[in-house]
Amino acid sequence: MKRTLIIPLLALLCAQVSAKTDDFRHYFEDKTLRINYLHIGNKNQESIELCGFVVRNGWYGTRAELADPFQYGDMLVEVFSNLSGRLIYSRSYSCLFSEYRTTERGETEIAKMEECAVIPMPRHDFRVRISSFDRRRTPTVLVDTVLVPGNLPLKNAGKNYKVKTLHRGGSPKRSLDILIVPDGYSKNDRKLLEYDVKRFASYIMKCSPYKEFRKNVNIRAVIGYSEDSGITQPQNNIHVNTLLNCTYNAIDLDRYLMCPGVWNLHDVADDAPYDAIIIICNSDKYGGGGIYNFYCTVYNRGEYPDYVIVHEMGHLIGGLADEYYTSDVSVQDFYPEGVEPTEPNITTLVDFESKWSGKVSQGTPVPTPSVGKDHPDFDRIGVYEGGGYVAKGVFRPSLHCTMNGAVYDDFCPVCRETLEKIIRYYSK
Ligand SMILES: [Zn+2]
Repeated sequence: MKRTLIIPLLALLCAQVSAKTDDFRHYFEDKTLRINYLHIGNKNQESIELCGFVVRNGWYGTRAELADPFQYGDMLVEVFSNLSGRLIYSRSYSCLFSEYRTTERGETEIAKMEECAVIPMPRHDFRVRISSFDRRRTPTVLVDTVLVPGNLPLKNAGKNYKVKTLHRGGSPKRSLDILIVPDGYSKNDRKLLEYDVKRFASYIMKCSPYKEFRKNVNIRAVIGYSEDSGITQPQNNIHVNTLLNCTYNAIDLDRYLMCPGVWNLHDVADDAPYDAIIIICNSDKYGGGGIYNFYCTVYNRGEYPDYVIVHEMGHLIGGLADEYYTSDVSVQDFYPEGVEPTEPNITTLVDFESKWSGKVSQGTPVPTPSVGKDHPDFDRIGVYEGGGYVAKGVFRPSLHCTMNGAVYDDFCPVCRETLEKIIRYYSK
């Protein structure tokens, strides 16, 4: 399964436009197939090793637009009909592995990280291709193999957790389904767990654009308890046994709270429909993290959990970049010069036309000068220098946004519109 070759980007793009929207029943059963794999490597090498196949009833993703129209991620999963060669499904996502590769440790040390592809179950033989894109958008094909549904060693999904509905919008087949999974709540924390899942659901539903799309969003929670209370903090020598084994200090950044056990996370999540998974961690230490079409985490106590959850969901659902550039982060050269980032809310001006140029009024200087909070132009959409962790060469659309400062329900028009488009995509 381990095969690495460079293929032209154009070939990928041409293939992606071929999937039509009304093909679901022809190509797929109303089931979900999860392909578990390990993403292995460091800065200079990578490979994928397929490890297992899990099946469940029902497909809850979109059926109307089977080829991913956004592709904001570093990874691309494509499914082709083996008979016709036609692209029948694709999904882009990002992963912790891509971030790890840009750290100092990732320059030399090999990591093995769990990932999975969640796809509708093909009826017939299919070809799956998994590609990664580096920061310069050069694709590398890591898997290209034909699979036969009848021959797959399938494991049935589900662990029979209780699932609680917190907000009911529409049919799960035509809505954005958000699933909350708790970590670090022991059976003694039962009341806190129930209180927290409700509280976080209300943070989401009181924030734009989710509140305007109430009928297109569902929020559910898996009620799953951990052996121990709390979350692992390696730097403070705290190690606990929890449902998901989330941990601080992911890729050597203390406040980066992540879930290395991605397969187990999906095993736990499989009792409910989901398009997006949010993990709520029972901890008073500031932390969180969100990766596009992967999962996001948030801590449950402290000053800003309402802000942290909608900010991390901006990464998870919208593929949005951090618009700040002052905090310490462990990634290096994340946005190389001369390359337009995929994230819709930052630009290097290499291809600004593909970003928010249409929203900038004529005569707005580039870079747009910063003005204070009480200035009449504080809300002006512009091209402000600084964003994506660097002060120079990367530009953001607004002086204030939930993807920038710690302000709840303050997405700038560019970020808000991106999230709206994605909610609409799931609602088709
Ligand atoms: Zn923004």
